[in-house]
Amino acid sequence: MTSAHLTFDQTGEKIAERVVKMRSSAVRDLFAAASRPDVISLSGGMPDVSLLPQSAIKKAVRAVCEDERAVALQYGSTDGRVQTKQVFCDLMRDIGVRTKPENVLITSGAQEALDLLSKAFINPGDIILAEGPTYLGALQAFSAYEPDIHCIPFDDEGMRMDLLEEELARIGKGNPRLKFLYTIPNFQNPGGVTMSSARRKRLLELAAEYDFMVLEDDPYGRLRYDGGHMVPLKALSDDVIYLGTISKVFAPGLRTGWIVAPKHVLSKVNLVKQGTDLCGSSFDQVVVEHYFTDTPWQKTLQKFVSTYHERRDAMLAALDEYFPAEASWTRPDGGFFVWVTLPEYFDTASMLSEALEAGVTYVPGDSFFPDGKTGKNSMRINFSFAPPEKLNEAIKRLAKVINERLEL
Ligand code: PMP
Repeated sequence: MTSAHLTFDQTGEKIAERVVKMRSSAVRDLFAAASRPDVISLSGGMPDVSLLPQSAIKKAVRAVCEDERAVALQYGSTDGRVQTKQVFCDLMRDIGVRTKPENVLITSGAQEALDLLSKAFINPGDIILAEGPTYLGALQAFSAYEPDIHCIPFDDEGMRMDLLEEELARIGKGNPRLKFLYTIPNFQNPGGVTMSSARRKRLLELAAEYDFMVLEDDPYGRLRYDGGHMVPLKALSDDVIYLGTISKVFAPGLRTGWIVAPKHVLSKVNLVKQGTDLCGSSFDQVVVEHYFTDTPWQKTLQKFVSTYHERRDAMLAALDEYFPAEASWTRPDGGFFVWVTLPEYFDTASMLSEALEAGVTYVPGDSFFPDGKTGKNSMRINFSFAPPEKLNEAIKRLAKVINERLEL
C-alpha cells in the first residue's frame, strides 16, 4: 500500500517504496541450499581462491601488518590511495588502456562502482540500456534508483547492434532520459559471449550519435582460454567508464575494484561515495598493492587461467555428451559461465527444486532480466568452481532432470 509519503510492506512495516520493488538475488538465496555436501553447485560465480599460493598472501599481509599499520588501519581519502591507483593504471596498461591515477577511483569491488554510478546518474524513469540477460547484481544496483532498463539481446558476437539501433530509434535522439548503456563485453555474465571488434566500434559510434555514456564492466577480461585479446572499449574512447576488479584475478574477499573515467564523472562519484562509506578499506588497498608489486601474481593468474580452461572444456564436453538435442548453449572463450537455452515450454525456476533433489543447482534465466519473466526457459551454469569430474557429474544429473521434462 502506498500513500503520498508512507509505504508499507505486507507486514505493515513502514519502508521505502524502492525496497518494496526490490527482489532478493536468486543466487544469494541459493547459497544456503547449495551448501548441502551432496549438491554440486553450478549456481555461484566464485573464483577458486584455493589456487592462490599461501606464501604470496602471507607476504602481502605480513608487509602490511609489520610496516604499514599506521596507514592500513586508518581512514583514507574517498577516491582511494594513489599507490593503489598506480597499480591499477599498470594493470590497465597491460590490456591496452593508458590512464593516470587522477582518472582512477577505488571502490569496494565493481559492485560498489555500479551502485555509486547509479546513485550519481539515475533519476527515476531514466532509461538504461543493457544486454539482456545481464549481470543480476547490476540489475539490483540500478533498480534501487528506479530506472527503466531496456534489454538488448546478444548472439555469439555479443550485444546485437541492429537491435540496439532499433531501440535507440524508438528512444529518439537527444532524449534526456537516456543515461547510459551497461555492457560486459568480455565473457559476459551470464551469457559467456564476447563482443566482436566491429560491434565495439559501432557501439561507440552510436553512443556519440545518441549521447549516452558507456559503462564497460570487465571482471573476466584476463581469464581468456581461447583466441586473442580484444581491445577494451575504454582503449577506443576516453569517454567510456571502465569498471575493474581484483575479484576474479586475485580475491573477492578483499573488496577492491576501480573506476577509470573522465574527471567530471569521478567528481560526482566521489561526492556520492562520501555518503556511502567515506572511503574504501585502506587495509585491503595496501594488501592489494603488495600483492601486485611484490608477488609473482602473473604466475598465479596463469594458474587460474589453465585451471578454468580445463573446467570449461570439461563442462562443454559433458554438455555435448549428456544434454538433449533440443537444448542449445554458448561456448565461452573465457570467464566463468555458460548460458543454456531450453525449449520455450521449460520453466527453469520451477525445475530448480527437482534439480536440487537430483543434487545440482544452477541460476534460473529469469533472474537476469529486469522484468523477472523473460528467460524462463534458460539458465546460467558456472564452471569455475568445481573440478572436472564434479562438473561432469553435475551436467549428467542436470541432463536427467531436463530429459524428464522434455515433451516428446
Ligand atoms: N560485474 C560482474 C559482471 C560480475 O560478474 C561481478 C561479480 N560476480 C561484479 C561486477 C561484482 O564484482 P566485485 O566482486 O568486484 O564487486
